[in-house]
Amino acid sequence: GSGSTGTDDSERTIAGRVDSQDSTVSDGENADPRCTRQNSVSSVSQSLREWDIPYDELDRGEVIGRGRFGIVYSGNWHGLVAIKELRMDYVNDEKTLEAFKAEVSTFRKTRHENLVLFMGACMKPPRLAIVTSLCKGRTLYTHIHVQKDKFNMSKIIMIAQQISQGMGYLHARGIVHKDLKSKNIFLECGKVVITDFGLFNVTRLCHDTRRGNWLSIPPGWLCYLSPEVMRNLRVVQKQDDGLPFTTYSDVYGFGTVWYELLCGEWPHKGLPPEAIIWQVGRGMKPSLANLQASRDVKDILMACWSYRPDERPEFSTMQANLNKLPKKRLHRSPSHPIHLSRSAES
Ligand code: ADP
Ligand code: MG
Repeated sequence: GSGSTGTDDSERTIAGRVDSQDSTVSDGENADPRCTRQNSVSSVSQSLREWDIPYDELDRGEVIGRGRFGIVYSGNWHGLVAIKELRMDYVNDEKTLEAFKAEVSTFRKTRHENLVLFMGACMKPPRLAIVTSLCKGRTLYTHIHVQKDKFNMSKIIMIAQQISQGMGYLHARGIVHKDLKSKNIFLECGKVVITDFGLFNVTRLCHDTRRGNWLSIPPGWLCYLSPEVMRNLRVVQKQDDGLPFTTYSDVYGFGTVWYELLCGEWPHKGLPPEAIIWQVGRGMKPSLANLQASRDVKDILMACWSYRPDERPEFSTMQANLNKLPKKRLHRSPSHPIHLSRSAES
């Protein structure tokens, strides 16, 4: 099933200070009008009541997997569901609890066939959990990186189209995903289902420092981070100085998923985290040495990975661009790599 994701849970750590505030290029990253704001506490608690599921009503089944939040179980609540239980050592203060409730409240606004169905949440500590429909297919991560499945170009375009549709809807509703990655995209009989949107703030990336300054890097996470997010990584990441995720940084993440679909691997392959953080933060793009594709296909990638957030396309534009692509076979032979001169500019 989708739980067999191998070395999923191990985390890389980096010691010391990782952010580089010395970047010489300014892009107005803090003035993004399209970024969502957290709801006020009172309006949140009002609207939350109808989504509250008493923990006792859940019939919890087996463990499906573990992620940043905690343990994910399959279960039953008026049918098959996925139950995402939050680790309480992460939610140990009032502020984090409020962040959890605020993020839960955004879910009720989501109704789209490419988004996982949010059913409700358990919001009484110490039992905090999110209940969604159970995705039956496998994640794109499992298809691409575990099973090494090769998709043909028309399938790749079809998948990318559906991701764009779901993401375009989220953005139109004012929701920033913040964690768009192949592990959060399921494929169910040809249908794309996106999960875990807007939940990022309830996770703690950085362990408090009993052992010194450590930033925990989940494997395969850095390659989805846009330059402006990358530059804001801190060794001690507190809830209240959260990373500057925006609709634009979601588009950057989509670019990485597009690359994974095309190349069958993550960008920056083989590079240590420190190098990825340094290079991307300074505006260098991943190598395209392993990507053999048409100009149009690469143009989409380069646009998504634009250094300046406002130069990245919106998902409506993305859909139009994807539509224009010829759905012929993609040749993935690495024997004739095409280096794009723009790929490593700084
Ligand atoms: P990550 O997204 O980093 O893998 P998660 O905590 O979101 O971490 O997920 C842990 C595991 O549970 C993964 O294997 C994921 O595929 C699985 N999972 C998460 N949500 C669902 C769902 N709605 N339906 C089925 N499996 C799920
Ligand atoms: Mg997930």
